[in-house]
Amino acid sequence: MAELFGDITFMKGVGSARAEKYAKMGIKQPYELLMHIPRDYFDFTSCVKIADARPDERNFLRLKVLEKHNPFVTSTSLVIYKVVVTDGEDIATVVFFNAVYSYRMLVVGKEYYFVGKVTPSMNGPEIKSPVFVNVNENAIQPVYRLTKGITVETMRNNVRQALTLLPQQNIESLTEQVREKYELAPLAWSLQNIHFPESMSAQREAQKRLAFDELLDLCIGMSLMRSNTVRENAFAMDGEISVNEFIGTLPFRLTDDQSSAVRDIISDLCKNVPMNRLLQGDVGSGKTAVAVVACCFTALNHRQSALMAPTEILAIQHYKTFSELLEPFGVRVCLLTGSMTAKKKSNIRELIASGEADVIVGTHAIIQKDVKYKSLSLVITDEQHRFGVQQRTELAEKGNSPHRLVMSATPIPRTLALIIYGDLDISVIKQMPAGRKPIKTYAVTGRLRQRAFGFVRKLLDEGRQAYIVCPKIEDGENELFSVKSYGKEIAQRELRGYSVALLHGKMSPNEKEETMKQFRDGEIQVLICTTVVEVGVDVPNAAVMVIENAERFGLSQLHQLRGRIGRGQYESHCILITDNPTEECIRRMKVISANSDGFVISEEDLKLRGPGDFFGNAQHGLPPLSATARGCSMELMNSAKECAAEILSADPNLEMPENGVLRQNAVRMFDKYITG
Ligand code: ADP
Ligand code: MG
Repeated sequence: MAELFGDITFMKGVGSARAEKYAKMGIKQPYELLMHIPRDYFDFTSCVKIADARPDERNFLRLKVLEKHNPFVTSTSLVIYKVVVTDGEDIATVVFFNAVYSYRMLVVGKEYYFVGKVTPSMNGPEIKSPVFVNVNENAIQPVYRLTKGITVETMRNNVRQALTLLPQQNIESLTEQVREKYELAPLAWSLQNIHFPESMSAQREAQKRLAFDELLDLCIGMSLMRSNTVRENAFAMDGEISVNEFIGTLPFRLTDDQSSAVRDIISDLCKNVPMNRLLQGDVGSGKTAVAVVACCFTALNHRQSALMAPTEILAIQHYKTFSELLEPFGVRVCLLTGSMTAKKKSNIRELIASGEADVIVGTHAIIQKDVKYKSLSLVITDEQHRFGVQQRTELAEKGNSPHRLVMSATPIPRTLALIIYGDLDISVIKQMPAGRKPIKTYAVTGRLRQRAFGFVRKLLDEGRQAYIVCPKIEDGENELFSVKSYGKEIAQRELRGYSVALLHGKMSPNEKEETMKQFRDGEIQVLICTTVVEVGVDVPNAAVMVIENAERFGLSQLHQLRGRIGRGQYESHCILITDNPTEECIRRMKVISANSDGFVISEEDLKLRGPGDFFGNAQHGLPPLSATARGCSMELMNSAKECAAEILSADPNLEMPENGVLRQNAVRMFDKYITG
């Protein structure tokens, strides 16, 4: 007998061949099939008359079959099937090409729901190759993401059968009390109504419940992760050891926010519970200095620290900063990246294993299996949003529960941060180092491009450097600006006579590094690049940035990008060029031009686009959420967060029987993600 959580092959009509196809979609059990949420619906409750059908659009019609013409074979062996239908007022012809099966299914005298375009022809309105279902079927039919070999009818039938298995088991994860408080429908009802809704408003209720469940699982999973890590033992450093002397050697005075972040971190490091802290600060707020101090403190405690950067460029840049500041102080810094020669890597690995290296800076290479640390006690990841839960876990396995610090330049409103980083404590740097001039930002259309370049040339002539950012590396089907072709054009035209170089992700790490080095040294005046410069690159003399196709970038991303300029004593300018006149785009351009505080910008982003974007797994490395959950409102997310807190405060490890299903769900969500 088929079971909800059993093998899908036990369902009627699902043999091993079909099961294999389902497995490709990640569906192995009837329950997982139910979690395969429709991507759309055919809503036959909104049927129109033939006369009211909108041309060139999908229409829903309820039609009766009057007559089936005999098939007609064209000279090219195409078989044409024509069926005459009526809505009671007008007559239309349904036309199928080679689709004998569809033709046979239609019975004269019976009514069907049709979906298709209605086009006028010499013989009256025609509906070519429509989809149809029986009128005794549900009036709202689900449409699914499919895979080759599984038709929508098959999936509907299998889902229908899986729904009959629901009463077998109690799958309800929420008590009635909770459901009432947050106005949520029961789970079984929601599954029924997400697939075969009674009405579109029932579908919305169902969607709300399912989205809530996912958000709740996410919040609970993050909390469980946190309580798991808290139990581990970490090396407690000595609070008597002082880093003040080192701080005194820095080329600047730490801002109050930097100092307070340093205090938070040192106090964590002196505990035998592993630190698990997020350092959040806008681009240019000086997170690196805080990291350097933390590494110095660790080295003074005769322990190793590691700093992991998301790109090679950034790793090399950090290595330079760290070694310049720390080496004079007797702290040994080394660099390890994937593109080094095997010999060099093995030398560095020896320094790490013997403990001669105090601070190890690098890319992902530093967490590979073959890297053994002598006494790793602090792990810092820079630009944390590029690393997922998975890497956080890998790193944790490296040392004997090292302290962890993650640094992020993506300012996130507190409500969201608490969810996304639910397993972390948070320090925030709000203040910018003194003397920073805000970046002047202007949004213009392509008509002003020549003037923009005139302005760029003026600044170049004054000795400054510039970035030109394009959304793509190479030309493709769409009309977006690309680094390669557009870059070459403007190098010949607008920027003729200046030294211009390209930088993008398809270059080898060596090429990229060489180009960045020349840009840093001022040999290159203009860098035409993709968003590879987004993260952490620091060239204080760069004072102007032009962003082409600005509409292609999210608000927070634009803010990150422009953070590459305005890093020195010069007044900096960011010119956004877009020919996209949509209201949303105009609004976004206004927000970015009028605000310089990353936190304000991310709040606005949240208002404009909802929290879904923040959950994009590439950004924060959370378990991926379904489209349903990503489409949720901020309000629903806050409810889920609040609900998770309530449940966990009464039952921190979800050991009570009524929380058993919840625990299972949360664990399943994270396990699936972490084990891939
Ligand atoms: P981010 O937070 O974006 O990583 P960085 O750490 O790269 O920022 O710092 C940006 C620039 O500000 C660097 O050139 C750094 O030397 C400088 N800086 C950092 N802290 C201060 C400070 N307290 N006073 C003046 N300049 C500072
Ligand atoms: Mg940085």
